[in-house]
Amino acid sequence: MSAHPSARPLESELAEAVQLVRAGGVVAFPTETVYGLGADATNPRAVARIFEIKARPRFDPLIVHVESAAAAQAIASDCPVEASRLAERFWPGPLTLVLPRRAETIPDIVTAGLTTVAVRVPDHPVAIELIRRAGVPIAAPSANRFGSVSPTTAAHVRESLGAAVDLVLDGGPCRAGIESTIIALGPEGSTLLRPGAIGIEEIESIIGEVGRPQRRLAPGAPAAAPGMLERHYATATPLYFSGDAPRWLDRGRCGRLSLTAPADAKEYRAIEILSASGDLREAAAGLFASMRRLDALGLDAIIADRFPDRGLGLAINDRLDRAAVPKC
Ligand code: AMP
Ligand code: MG
Repeated sequence: MSAHPSARPLESELAEAVQLVRAGGVVAFPTETVYGLGADATNPRAVARIFEIKARPRFDPLIVHVESAAAAQAIASDCPVEASRLAERFWPGPLTLVLPRRAETIPDIVTAGLTTVAVRVPDHPVAIELIRRAGVPIAAPSANRFGSVSPTTAAHVRESLGAAVDLVLDGGPCRAGIESTIIALGPEGSTLLRPGAIGIEEIESIIGEVGRPQRRLAPGAPAAAPGMLERHYATATPLYFSGDAPRWLDRGRCGRLSLTAPADAKEYRAIEILSASGDLREAAAGLFASMRRLDALGLDAIIADRFPDRGLGLAINDRLDRAAVPKC
């Protein structure tokens, strides 16, 4: 799966990160999905700093990262059988499970007061070592300002959060490059809360059909589930799907975000091809970096392909959909 050899931070930096987490600090660290902004999940004051640094609303709960499925059982209880089957198949890996929470270990600020907790075991040696050596579960959202494009390199983290973070561990570019798939498991069955780096088809092959809540609600209505906000992952430059881009836009002042080389490439000022061979895994890995590069050019608009709605295409479309200018 890896297109990049992964770099390793120095042992002294890792040791410092461990000390910082233990002391209630906030540390950015690599995972296989995107860079996380981590703090001791059992320390409400440390977690409060994550919300401040990101300017993230307190109603949007965080994912708790643990070192193993056994450690997940210390923070979630009454797990349905589907949870162990999914954990066995996909952990460590980019799958987050939303499960009944053990309130005695995870404070309210992490879960936004919900009776459930989101948990995952990351598949990255630096993340696992940090969690293990700190000896606590680590609450971590993506290491960017709330609503903006997620970071897939340490440089992205420094650009958007810089000095606000106590330390940025550099583990090279993230392998998957797109966030985890989030599945809620409860008495009422299973629900896909966020498409992500593991295709929903793969998950359904293990636990059967997974429900999809409706995300698009009436304008102004609250989100169907926390985090399912309509606008997110957004570039500062307006982004349109190619079918929806206004005709009056001067293509010579626009950027094109495309899976493979598009026929109309010459019309655009800049172009980002996500995978010359049309590979969705490669496309997902480079998506956020390509969005950032186009965003830095001061273009009038970014015009993106819509991807096939299967496998990783579902997750890519979800991110582009939320970045896009809403259709009126
Ligand atoms: P991020 O940390 O930016 O990757 O986003 C984490 C996502 O997990 C957000 O969309 C949250 O709303 C979602 N999430 C975390 N905890 C829960 C929970 N208990 N129930 C539902 N969604 C959750
Ligand atoms: Mg995020």
